[in-house]
Amino acid sequence: MTTLADRLKDADLLKTDSFINGQWVGADTRFAVNSPGDRSHLADVADVGGAGARSAIDAADKAFKGWGKTSVFERARIVQRWHDLILEHADDLGTLITAEMGKPFGEAKGEVTYGAGFVNWSAEEAKRLHGETLQTPFPGTRGWTVRQPVGVVVCITPWNFPSAMITRKCGPALAAGCSVVVKPAPETPLSALALAELARRAGFPDGVFNVICGDAKAIGEVMTSSDAVRMVGFTGSTEVGKLLMRQAADGVKRVSLELGGNAPFIIMDDADLDAAADGVIASKFRAAGQTCVSANRIIAQAGIADALIERVTERMKKLKVGSGFESGVQIGPLIHDEAVERVDALVQDAKGKGAKVLVGGSPMADELGGSFYAPTLIESGSNFSLSIANSEIFGPVASVYRVESEEEIIRLANSTPYGLAAYVYTRDIGRVHRLSEGLEFGMVGVNAPMVGSPATPFGGVKESGIGREGGKWGVEEFTELKFVLLGGVNK
Ligand code: NAP
Repeated sequence: MTTLADRLKDADLLKTDSFINGQWVGADTRFAVNSPGDRSHLADVADVGGAGARSAIDAADKAFKGWGKTSVFERARIVQRWHDLILEHADDLGTLITAEMGKPFGEAKGEVTYGAGFVNWSAEEAKRLHGETLQTPFPGTRGWTVRQPVGVVVCITPWNFPSAMITRKCGPALAAGCSVVVKPAPETPLSALALAELARRAGFPDGVFNVICGDAKAIGEVMTSSDAVRMVGFTGSTEVGKLLMRQAADGVKRVSLELGGNAPFIIMDDADLDAAADGVIASKFRAAGQTCVSANRIIAQAGIADALIERVTERMKKLKVGSGFESGVQIGPLIHDEAVERVDALVQDAKGKGAKVLVGGSPMADELGGSFYAPTLIESGSNFSLSIANSEIFGPVASVYRVESEEEIIRLANSTPYGLAAYVYTRDIGRVHRLSEGLEFGMVGVNAPMVGSPATPFGGVKESGIGREGGKWGVEEFTELKFVLLGGVNK
């Protein structure tokens, strides 16, 4: 039987202990990591718990005193080396993602490259963290601003992008001069620990970059209550984001929250329908629909709804489902069996309330031997009160709604507490402006099904989060703006 280590070109990237203060630290308690594609056992990872969190934060606090003062050129060199090592080992990092999370290997490697882009961008951008000289109202004074690193940052990350959600936070944090403690999701710790091994090789001083695995509640409480921690960076569900925000409030810590979404994917009656159908497939089925920016409500203007459904159906019937390691597979498994049950419950609920299942509509676990769900297309008419319209589907299920007017489309698209990504397909320039301005979302893709890149701001409004990752904004997020007033300048 081929083990995970056999699949790696560099088996030393397979780590199962936490990385604290430059050392690999084990624990008596371990938790199992299994592959959702075939349910095979991959590894037993040490749970270092609250005690591990405390020692990682102590180490990060000590390390910050030096790292935060290191020349940005020196910091950028090390961050850049980390980026280069990530790309050099992209095959192995992709293999780890496919094994523990399930997405197809090509997509997994794409995630590694995408995530590395934030590290590279941040190494460059940190050199441009300028202050400004300011006008002052008092005679004989001068004023200026400086940007300084926030301090110790903790990052709590989800399983759906096991690599990129770490690099998207840690690249800018480290380049800005912060020290970091990462807690990855228990489903996908191996990607995080491999990134720690590459950070070790890149030459970060001990304690600057730490990865700890284990009980979320215990670790989260230590992280949010420690005086040494100045910022909590979190990507995950809105529910946990709110909890962490409440916990961080006592210490008035800065929070950066990338939370859940309920993306409307709007197709107006003047749209290029082939491009729109391609867009639905790209947005909906990446990572088997398990992304925060996945099309969640496909809203077609009534006149073109049938033509759109026909095009989407054609494309969906060609999608290949299977193990992420099998060539040609476009849809891998869901993260675990509970996810399959949750997605199926949404589909059955919609069906029971009158929605039509046009393609798929059931689990594929028995045929494929893992936590698979069939790519599914549902026609939900104009029923926006269905659970499937109001919760994150997080699975390969496309639900199409028909709406007549532009005003109604905007109203319904905004009728959610979430505000992460929205998509609009139209060729009418007036509509481009009306819709992109009227949609209450942090990002709007117009005739474009993907919105994230290292150069651009990624983040949500309303209950989808606070703060932005990417571009200059992503680096500024990890700095404090200090004002200095100098008096006594005049003789
Ligand atoms: P989740 O359940 O919120 O978990 C995310 C992370 O938080 C995990 O590491 C989890 O560890 C940890 N956690 C849970 N409870 C905690 C606590 N009390 N204290 C400290 N840490 C705690 O989310 P998920 O299911 O992994 O990921 C899916 C969600 O992430 C979706 O809602 C998706 O939209 C969102 N997401 C958002 C973005 C974005 O950029 N906006 C990107 C990707 C994903 P345990 O599992 O051990 O509890």
